[in-house]
Amino acid sequence: MRGAKSFGEMLDVPRALREQLGAAYRLTSLRTVAKSEADRSLTTKTLYELDGGHTVEAVVMRYADRSTLCISSQAGCPVGCPFCATGKFQFGRNLAAHEIEEQAVDAAWLLKTEGRRLSHVVFMGMGEPFLNYAAVIDSVRRIADPERLAISPRRIVVSTSGVIPRIEQLSQEKVPVTLAISLHAARDELRNVLVPINRKYPVRELVAAAEDYALDSGRRVSYEWVMLAGVNDTERDAKEVGRLLRKRLAHVNLIPFNPVDDTPYAAPSREGVRRFKELVAAEGLNVTVRDTRGREADAACGQLHERIAKQREAAAIT
Ligand code: SAH
Ligand code: SF4
Repeated sequence: MRGAKSFGEMLDVPRALREQLGAAYRLTSLRTVAKSEADRSLTTKTLYELDGGHTVEAVVMRYADRSTLCISSQAGCPVGCPFCATGKFQFGRNLAAHEIEEQAVDAAWLLKTEGRRLSHVVFMGMGEPFLNYAAVIDSVRRIADPERLAISPRRIVVSTSGVIPRIEQLSQEKVPVTLAISLHAARDELRNVLVPINRKYPVRELVAAAEDYALDSGRRVSYEWVMLAGVNDTERDAKEVGRLLRKRLAHVNLIPFNPVDDTPYAAPSREGVRRFKELVAAEGLNVTVRDTRGREADAACGQLHERIAKQREAAAIT
């Protein structure tokens, strides 16, 4: 029986065998340690404990025409972007392919109980997918497998801070996922600070590699731009991103910063978002603003983990 949550539910299997299976095996290695809901239950965020004790998050977002899961590929992240909650705590470990897949299986099960179907998966949770490349590609193949979750690779988005060799390798895999590049700045000087991996893989070379992927796969690349008020949302930034991406197979996705404690950054105002969007559009680029779904659910990657870790610390102190 497909989609069962326990061996006990598998009524097409003889009872004795069900009991034996239940005693010897488990259906998932993930243990749910916390859940939070937001947007009138349209968003559900789950914190899972992995074997060995590290925790990762996954977020289900329900829309009228689709249901999207945001998934984690690493416990923590070694890239260390200064605005990101995940980058703030110590790197734990890479996830195995089955641990990534199990997040999707759990979400598919939850949605099924609501009469919905998991339709999209985005690698925008904790971790840098291309620093755990083999497991991520393996998990993509599993999630896309018609015998498993059957989600078309086109509906799977892999977001990277810019590991150029892996972008090149991705073209060879023949799994036509949608590639998202976390750009955030168009000049090296600023991007070196916001996305430290830029010191190794500079922005022009990154965009050239992404463009090659776009041409090979025929898929437009999505460039993510987290908006940090006064830092990367100025007229100068709009002009620079215009120069960098004009005439490319590109789409710019503005993400208003979701405030993280102990960072020097602030979210832009509504007016600030509108103005920067217009400036970028005036450069001739395709640009949209990502909705801030899940803000109350500790939305951006690493934030639920952070809250629970703080609660645990507080509990240990008192
Ligand atoms: N490590 C990968 C994928 C996970 S992060 C990457 O960086 O692309 C997914 C997206 O969320 C990235 O574009 C990241 O920059 C963005 N992000 C991280 N922290 C955020 C925050 N506090 N507010 C808004 N977006 C954030
Ligand atoms: Fe890692 Fe992405 Fe967060 Fe940067 S934004 S620290 S790459 S998870």
